[in-house]
Amino acid sequence: MSDHALDPRTAAPFPIIAAKAVADSQLRKNVRHATDVIQAKRARVVGELPEWQDLRSAGEAIRRHSMATLSENLQRFEANCIQAGGQVHWARNSEEANAIVIRLVTEALHRFEAQPEVLKIKSMTTEEIGLNRALERAGIHPYETDLAELIVQLGKDQPSHLVVPALHKNRQQIREIFRREMGLTDLSDDPIELAGAARLYLRERFLRVPVAVSGANFLLADTGGVCVVESEGNGRMCLTLPKTLITIAGIDKVLPSYSDLDVVLQTLPRSATGERMNPYNSIWTGVREGDGPQEFHVILLDNGRTDVLADEHGRQTLHCIRCGACQNACPVYKQTGGHAYGSVYSGPIGAILTPQLMHLEHAQSLPYASSLCGACYEVCPVKINIPEVLVHLRHEVVLRKSSFAPEAVAMKTAGLLFRSERRFRAAQRLGRITQRVLEREDPTGERWVSWLPGLLGQWTATRDLPGMPSQTFREWWEQRDQKEPRS
Ligand code: SF4
Repeated sequence: MSDHALDPRTAAPFPIIAAKAVADSQLRKNVRHATDVIQAKRARVVGELPEWQDLRSAGEAIRRHSMATLSENLQRFEANCIQAGGQVHWARNSEEANAIVIRLVTEALHRFEAQPEVLKIKSMTTEEIGLNRALERAGIHPYETDLAELIVQLGKDQPSHLVVPALHKNRQQIREIFRREMGLTDLSDDPIELAGAARLYLRERFLRVPVAVSGANFLLADTGGVCVVESEGNGRMCLTLPKTLITIAGIDKVLPSYSDLDVVLQTLPRSATGERMNPYNSIWTGVREGDGPQEFHVILLDNGRTDVLADEHGRQTLHCIRCGACQNACPVYKQTGGHAYGSVYSGPIGAILTPQLMHLEHAQSLPYASSLCGACYEVCPVKINIPEVLVHLRHEVVLRKSSFAPEAVAMKTAGLLFRSERRFRAAQRLGRITQRVLEREDPTGERWVSWLPGLLGQWTATRDLPGMPSQTFREWWEQRDQKEPRS
């Protein structure tokens, strides 16, 4: 994958990128292996909790309440954060958020007379707004400190998963990236050696760079606190060593109360990485003299979220706690990997979140990137009904298209046929006659249509159509009645 940004505004439609992805057998192998491993771990730790379904319901209720009281929660968060010594900024979109970060980082670096560098904690929100590219354009070099994000950054790649951004890379590929970028020619692909190389690479930067940028898993309205959970400890380093800390969080990350963590900190790690608890759970509130960063900023980002909230069918999308379980469970994601979605948000959650953040002006193919099997809904720790939102978005996409679009014409024609038994039977007869010249028989005797003319060919371009049976169910039933009249 190239270093081109995953930008839904310029990405090709999903079927085009997905066709290339599924042709890459190494990529498919990597994605399938990684998702299978995480899914098995998740199933094990979820199975330990008889109350798992109750926790899911509690998580859903908490997130529903958080969004229903969003405006009040954000105001409480702002007031409490400021009272604790933090500074709160509001950004309507990516441009505003990036401009605020660059201004704050520049001012801090100037004060500390430091080199133009900044530490980064893994954050999908900063990926969403393209912060790294904006920092580079401003002459500031960002250092990703999460191991997977570091692999992505050094490989000039893009994240392909919410929790495991380098999930599409295997150990050998990671070794090659580290060898090339760190100049470690005799590095092996042993995970401990790879982690050791990353640790050495980052340690010196942790000690040198005085400014860090983080995301947030949760914002706590009742205390003004910010919560970040992670597995490696790199986040903890960034939250304690730098003198200035800047956190960017989508406004949807807010929880009304600290006590809500009781539920989400049980469901998130189990769903995300198959761990009972994250090894590092950091919660910080404002600043405290002599302890950690002495300057703390929070940027609250909208970037389309209030519009998502306004849609009664789509708003449950904002309940997401970014665990990635739906990605690991999705049969489509397992085949294509994340880059095919043309957005930093991939998999089932990406298929509903990205089009909504784009106001359906872009990413219109994503709601169709699903078989609607429901596996995503079953694993979601906050019970987001992703299939329901996908169908809703498909409806919205069709409404936006011209009434002469092929899909609209096909549906109108189908409607006409289904409304009349006479027309429906005539269409079945016509179909059976027409298919005689198109169908072929496979070795098992099944009949298939592999080619259809014109626009209908879009269907057979990627799959075969089962041949119509020589007799419909109704015909069979009527015939049966004639042979064995019912008493
Ligand atoms: S939609 Fe649900 S399963 Fe998917 S990332 Fe969000 S919380 Fe996790």
